Amino acid sequence: MSVAESILYYKKNLSEDVVLVAVSKTKPIEAIEEAYEVGQRIFGENKVQEMVDKYERLPKDIYWHMIGHMQSNKVKYIAPFVSLIHGVDSLKLLHTIDKEGKKNNRIISCLLQVHIAKERTKFGFDEQSLKEIIASDGFKNLTNIQVKGLMGMATFTDDEDMVRSEFRTLKRLFDQLKNSHFKENRAFDTLSMGMSNDHFIAIEEGSTMVRIGSSIFGSRIYP
Ligand SMILES: *Cc1c(COP(=O)(O)O)cnc(C)c1O
Repeated sequence: MSVAESILYYKKNLSEDVVLVAVSKTKPIEAIEEAYEVGQRIFGENKVQEMVDKYERLPKDIYWHMIGHMQSNKVKYIAPFVSLIHGVDSLKLLHTIDKEGKKNNRIISCLLQVHIAKERTKFGFDEQSLKEIIASDGFKNLTNIQVKGLMGMATFTDDEDMVRSEFRTLKRLFDQLKNSHFKENRAFDTLSMGMSNDHFIAIEEGSTMVRIGSSIFGSRIYP
């Protein structure tokens, strides 16, 4: 399938409560334009410089999602335009985003990343530290951040039961927080989980946002 056909396929087959983030990292401007022409407006990137370059060259009604691990010292480059930062995994990063939000006179939407996979390489809070941070004064004093929900990545494995149980854990935590800390906060409505190879399972387990790259744009070649 071409990029355009893949986007149309997902638009047709994803339920209306699931948002599609087309992950365009490493892919050229032309591929994004092809997706844009058939109506896709949300694109995910994982490198700051690449996202800034693409933002500058492409139409301004695109919503740019940062899905990669963020370093605090780079937040300033995307703060003026980023639509959602998925991988927030420290209080320090939350403070930096808040500060850059103030400077740009905007409220920046974020997802808190939770470590659900077995691999140690994947970033994110564990359940305990997430709860501690959310309950802390430092968290309550954030004014220019909107925490929209949680994000997680399952273990990269063929073991579907394992993937399913990891997504289920994340969904349970999401529901718990939604009914406790974020009870008064209607904006807390996003559960970002599922990629090309595991989004079917993620959606069955309650995902509201999938991040799909290779099955739209083709496999990536890293230099
Ligand atoms: C690259 C990436 C994706 C997309 O992965 P595919 O397997 O190509 O769909 C999703 N989420 C994150 C965080 C990524 O880095």
